[in-house]
Amino acid sequence: MRNLLIRMMPARKFFNLFSCDMAIDLGTANTVVYVPGKGIVLNEPSVVAVKANTNHVLAAGKRAKEMLGKTPESIVASRPMRDGVIANFELTESMLRYFINEVHGNRRMIFKPRMVIGVPSGITQVERRAVEDASRQAGAQEVHIVSEPMAAAIGAGLPVHEPVGSMIVDIGGGTTEVAVITLKGIVFCKSIRIAGDELDQAIVSYVKRKYNLLIGERTAEIVKMTIGTVLSEGPVESMEVRGRDLVYGVPKTIRLTSVEVNESLLETISNIVDVVKVALENTPPELSSDLVEHGIILAGGGSLLRGLAGLLSQETGLPVKPAEEPLLCVVKGAGIMLENLDFFREALMK
Ligand code: ADP
Ligand code: MG
Repeated sequence: MRNLLIRMMPARKFFNLFSCDMAIDLGTANTVVYVPGKGIVLNEPSVVAVKANTNHVLAAGKRAKEMLGKTPESIVASRPMRDGVIANFELTESMLRYFINEVHGNRRMIFKPRMVIGVPSGITQVERRAVEDASRQAGAQEVHIVSEPMAAAIGAGLPVHEPVGSMIVDIGGGTTEVAVITLKGIVFCKSIRIAGDELDQAIVSYVKRKYNLLIGERTAEIVKMTIGTVLSEGPVESMEVRGRDLVYGVPKTIRLTSVEVNESLLETISNIVDVVKVALENTPPELSSDLVEHGIILAGGGSLLRGLAGLLSQETGLPVKPAEEPLLCVVKGAGIMLENLDFFREALMK
């Protein structure tokens, strides 16, 4: 029976059954894990809740995100990767270990996995070592680090191994990363700490200024995802928003329109547009001409903001195309690298 099974299955698929290898997108907002042969096995917010003054994890992912801003003194819920830097090494490690455990349970103790981990490109050597250590302590035997834009470009299906320039713009929660890639290498890369979170914050500030109403970041994010747009024209949408009245201190509800949200986002969006322009200015001319032909590819959750591709195209004069499943580009790319490690060795972070 066992022989029959082995013969029926291609060799790699068979070994995948036992493999504990994983590709991880350790994003500032979301952590996504891919396991060869299984696909995406975990997709959770990069949030961890611990008992105060300890690293004892009470919850991670969605459950921990629901706790943000709502915890009693005895619990601390936070986003350890928030700004694209590892604000707290121990918390990042606890979170990573928790997620790896969710995926593999105790199996990892027997089959030591190889991991390819996508991290923000602006990460320092010290932070990078922190991620490597955390992964090893969580059971990884071999850890390979790849910068998010490189993984995103591979995941978006760009021809990164050819002598053709590709530009990827990855707008996440904490960072926006722009990279020009050719021959498995990054020619130019710029990372700024302005992305989805900053857009949420801009909505919070706008509502506070205009309505004397304090709303939470979670509420602002929902507003952004529901009626957020960078287009000043088009049908006007609106939604109810609840918060605390800053004058009377009582709960209050207002109706916010997409025109207002658009106004609140403009300044932050212009920072994102500027970083793309800087990258274009720094692209060698032969590669620039490739970009005219192939355009700019958008990845990351922030790229889902309505009208963004059109605006970037208008501002740069280049075609701008959203990647398929922008939230999954990094993990898909890391997965492709994991399955073809020798081929993509040069594309790993040095
Ligand atoms: P990271 O790689 O930093 O973890 P992600 O690529 O997972 O980030 O993207 C998360 C960001 O995308 C968050 O700021 C979230 O608010 C934003 N986002 C997700 N969906 C949408 C949407 N439909 N419109 C606008 N922003 C979105
Ligand atoms: Mg990302």
